[in-house]
Amino acid sequence: MNRRQALVFITAQTSFFWLAVNGFAANANKSNRRIMTNKKIKVYSAEQGDYILTDKMMRSESEWKKLLTSEQYHVLREEGTERAFTGRLLKNKEHGVYRCAACGNDLYLSGSKFDSGTGWPSFYEPIAKENILIRKDRSFFVTRNELICSRCESHLGHVFDDGPPPTGKRHCINSISLKFHKLNQ
Ligand SMILES: [Zn+2]
Repeated sequence: MNRRQALVFITAQTSFFWLAVNGFAANANKSNRRIMTNKKIKVYSAEQGDYILTDKMMRSESEWKKLLTSEQYHVLREEGTERAFTGRLLKNKEHGVYRCAACGNDLYLSGSKFDSGTGWPSFYEPIAKENILIRKDRSFFVTRNELICSRCESHLGHVFDDGPPPTGKRHCINSISLKFHKLNQ
């Protein structure tokens, strides 16, 4: 083996090594995702009036496509935004709880809903801080705080600092990301 052949041999060995490492990492990621699915999380339940333990609900994108309508999939899984003033729950004033349309996790109580004039259902606080997660969203060249469901990590909307008292927060939520469940007064 001359020097050139040796170099080719070493390069091939290194490439193979990296392919093997990457393959292993990809498999490790997949198994991590499986572990996540079985993870229990603590969330607040309006019907129980207390915190409950529930399974994290992680699905593959092809599974979500089967479970959701194409409009729901676009907003909940592709971080889309429904057109302002088109949402079914925008003007809803009934007493109840707004749940995640993808997994049913309780998100907002009707008492925290207010008319922001933006065209999207708006709330000044979530039902409990454990029921939603905030993720930095750097799309469109600005950093916004994206709100996702803590149970299934679907996209809900964004939170802004121009809301009313007592929190000063405005949770701007896509109506299509929510389903409403009436509660007895
Ligand atoms: Zn959810």
